[in-house]
Amino acid sequence: FYTEDELAPLFERPKVDPSAPGEYGKAYKVTDNSAEVKKLVKEGWDKHAFNHYVCQKISLHRSVGDKRDQECKVRKWRKPLPDTSVIIIFHNEAWCALLRTVHSVLENSPKILLKEIILVDDASTLSNLGKELTDYVAKLQIVKIIRLPSRAGLIRARLAGAQEAQGSVLTFLDSHCECAPHWLEPMLERIAEDNTRVVCPVIEVIDADTFAMSLTTARYTSENTGILSWSLGFNWAPRKINPGQPIKNDEALTSATMAGGLFAMSRKYFYHLGSYDNDMLVWGGENIEMSLRIWMCGGSLEIHPCSHVGHVFRKRAPYSHPGGSDVITHNNKRVAEVWLDEYKEQYYKRVPRARAVSYVEAGDLTARIKLRHDLKCRNFQWYITNIYPALYATPKEDILKGGEVLNNITSKYCLDSANPDGKVGVKMTMYVCHGMGVNQDFDLTRNGEIRHSYSKELCLQPSGNSIVTYDCVFPKKAVPPEQKWLLTQDGHIYHPDSNLCLTYNIHHLSAGLLKCVKQGTSQIWVFGHKDGYQEDYQVDVNANYTMDGLTANYTDQEVAYESTDQVDVI
Ligand code: UDP
Ligand code: MN
Repeated sequence: FYTEDELAPLFERPKVDPSAPGEYGKAYKVTDNSAEVKKLVKEGWDKHAFNHYVCQKISLHRSVGDKRDQECKVRKWRKPLPDTSVIIIFHNEAWCALLRTVHSVLENSPKILLKEIILVDDASTLSNLGKELTDYVAKLQIVKIIRLPSRAGLIRARLAGAQEAQGSVLTFLDSHCECAPHWLEPMLERIAEDNTRVVCPVIEVIDADTFAMSLTTARYTSENTGILSWSLGFNWAPRKINPGQPIKNDEALTSATMAGGLFAMSRKYFYHLGSYDNDMLVWGGENIEMSLRIWMCGGSLEIHPCSHVGHVFRKRAPYSHPGGSDVITHNNKRVAEVWLDEYKEQYYKRVPRARAVSYVEAGDLTARIKLRHDLKCRNFQWYITNIYPALYATPKEDILKGGEVLNNITSKYCLDSANPDGKVGVKMTMYVCHGMGVNQDFDLTRNGEIRHSYSKELCLQPSGNSIVTYDCVFPKKAVPPEQKWLLTQDGHIYHPDSNLCLTYNIHHLSAGLLKCVKQGTSQIWVFGHKDGYQEDYQVDVNANYTMDGLTANYTDQEVAYESTDQVDVI
């Protein structure tokens, strides 16, 4: 085992006053209310999408403390561990964020394991990131800068960094990270034992406003691992607890996907596995592509609870996306076409825009398809069955109707979840039908569920007179009465459990539940796809339900929302 001395960093962290801003990962709150400071704060947010004023207040050498679990603290690391090149890519990153990342790597990584830090400048235009940065890092001995002549996007920037790397492990970080003590050893140990393991640290949240960073412990239930949805988005989900299995807090846990920015991987294996798809542009999709490739082609992906790295999570990207918003769709379409087999239909169903070549082209896929073949990768069905069984796709024959849910009253407004992040408990709204799926894509299933599964599997269920998104119960258990809906022959969407009908509230652009009225036009709905794509669902809906004997109960009176009705709209 290595001794503590052998694992000393190249640079000792300079002593910082413990009461200085942000020390021990504490929040820094701006107390100066002067107009001048307010202006600086606003400018910082506009430019960097985080509180740059606060970022600058905090020492580049701050300590984030060491709140790792005891099991991690007492762990010894077995010799020999491979050395690593840490690759940090950036485009117009704030000096304070970039250099705090660099110093935190230098001060928290054993000298003998840190071969080099490679900064890849993806054509930044901020003036201090030029000569000033070159001069600054020259003093840091093992820090190199690669300058890309034109904007390459994060995938190609990482590839450029990897090409220069000499360490036997590649460790990738974003340019706004902070490493906690001994973040490197756990990941390197896993790779030393088996170089087909790709290991991520626990990613801690650095608050974009206060730069507070806390270290979570590895306590089993609080730990999150990566998942994916049919829209090919990444998400976190608590890991499944297996009651019979004792858990060690210092044991790596497998993860179905990785967030993307922070991971360590054997350099040899990185290239063996086809590095990245360098026809992917700017940002997005590469993490899912790599996650699927790792699992399907013989490797494994894990998160090590003893390794902690903070990351500033931003609500928006502070940089432009050359190529526009379809860049991510282009990238995801490549993932779907190369890796999803027949399940690519599930993606296209969620993102109809990607289906039509006239909107988004995937580009040439030959090389990636060949790679999958050459590596003798398993199919996507294997991935679902073995790696992420919770990824549920309603079998086509169980979908009675799918697509937009258009209200017949104006033929213009559709049910809309206004919920791209897949949150639970969000109220349904109505919005102009846009034909792009996403928030307006719903499936009526044979079991009577209305499933809404863009970034998570959600089911519609009443909450008072509103209708909100809930976790689906099926297929784990039978569909509960609250989640059962009945589409009648004349187009009512009836909720037998409450004996009410889905009603468009024209006054508030929302949808709720009211008594069913035979003639009530605001209660007549039409399922369909606007992109011209028709799926051959069962037409005779009522004959195919599993809810035998249920029929809608109508009142004779006219029932409709009054303009004065109070309906909560988010
Ligand atoms: N980045 C880059 N070129 C780009 C876009 C992003 O080098 O065209 C860098 C960016 O500076 C960051 C990393 O790629 O270090 C990941 O991007 P970002 O942090 O915006 O992604 P997020 O963490 O928000 O998903
Ligand atoms: Mn980032």
